[in-house]
Amino acid sequence: MSADLSAHGASITLKGLTKRYGDATAVDAIDLEARPGEFLTLLGPSGSGKTTTLNMIAGFVDVTEGELLIDDKPVHSLPPYKRNIGMVFQHYALFPHMSVADNVAYPLHQRKVAKAERQRLVAEALKTVGLAHLGHRRPAQLSGGQQQRVALARAMVYSPRVLLMDEPLGALDKKLRDTLQLEIKRIHAELGTTFVYVTHDQDEALVLSDRIAVFNDGRIEQIGTATDLYERPSTVFVAQFLGESSLFHGEAISSGGGYGVHSPGGTLRAQRGNASSGEPAALVVRPERIRLVPTDGAEPTADNAVRGRVRQEIYLGNSRKLAIDLPDGSQVLVRESAGDISASRPGDDVWLTFRAEHAAVLSTGPSTTAPTTNLGVH
Ligand code: ADP
Ligand code: MG
Repeated sequence: MSADLSAHGASITLKGLTKRYGDATAVDAIDLEARPGEFLTLLGPSGSGKTTTLNMIAGFVDVTEGELLIDDKPVHSLPPYKRNIGMVFQHYALFPHMSVADNVAYPLHQRKVAKAERQRLVAEALKTVGLAHLGHRRPAQLSGGQQQRVALARAMVYSPRVLLMDEPLGALDKKLRDTLQLEIKRIHAELGTTFVYVTHDQDEALVLSDRIAVFNDGRIEQIGTATDLYERPSTVFVAQFLGESSLFHGEAISSGGGYGVHSPGGTLRAQRGNASSGEPAALVVRPERIRLVPTDGAEPTADNAVRGRVRQEIYLGNSRKLAIDLPDGSQVLVRESAGDISASRPGDDVWLTFRAEHAAVLSTGPSTTAPTTNLGVH
């Protein structure tokens, strides 16, 4: 335990927070709350407003409109160094001419911490990130992963109540990213600090977060735990950005308390939904929830059964992914795990069957076109 560095995490509250650059809106009236000690991740594609949001919290970017509170106090007029926030960027930004230990000590110098205390805290921070033995080196004598550990030590050494991280692992290779993700998770648990973490990598968000806010075009589409977002996505964007989804397009109908769509392949039913009757909608289901049944027997008795033809398969070792053509020309994905591979092959006609409880009917709005699927390997 790093008892010396632990901090009671602060709450962060954004209300209608907006950033405009001229006519362009980078962040569009978002509401968001990070709870004390929470690991909150901002997840979204490039350009969706994650960095701008983080920089407003840090104080590097001015707020155009809305409220920003840390522990329920407005911080608009506070400069970054008075917000008690630590920050880690994608590029480590260490001082090349200073030793690792001096880099980590830098924020303590700025805060006029006495020498003995400084040395103690630097040693503690380096130990926490697993670099206790490398304090004497220069940054150039460390690997990329080690440099990022130094940046992390420097951000936490003065026990800020909030740590902000903007794609801190983005420049590292996959194996190192996996290792450091687990380290960051452990450090979060040890410190008790509130973490706000930016990434465009859904797997990273799933591994790290207590809750995830999904960004799209300057807005937040949905906030929830990994399970909430994966099992109960509330928009088509979330269903497609976090994991994969198969979409059956059609017109929404309400059917006896449940939801449904009239699609070219027939009427399909779901337990959940948010589309109003008559609206363009998609029935959304995860590819691993769909079972393939050969068409030579009777129509299967399932909540939902749709005809399709297997176009393509990809072998992935622990699973197999199939692209299926539907009658309306669109494609959906089916994923079968290694222990449960069906006999269906490319060219075969199949029934796609799935249960209403695994499906949701979500509004697609007037402008959404039928998406095609590619077999990108995840
Ligand atoms: P993300 O971090 O999710 O990739 P950003 O917050 O960096 O997204 O950017 C959100 C939007 O704001 C983008 O369209 C970007 O081009 C725009 N933007 C960011 N910073 C500036 C700036 N200083 N001036 C003008 N536009 C900006
Ligand atoms: Mg960014």
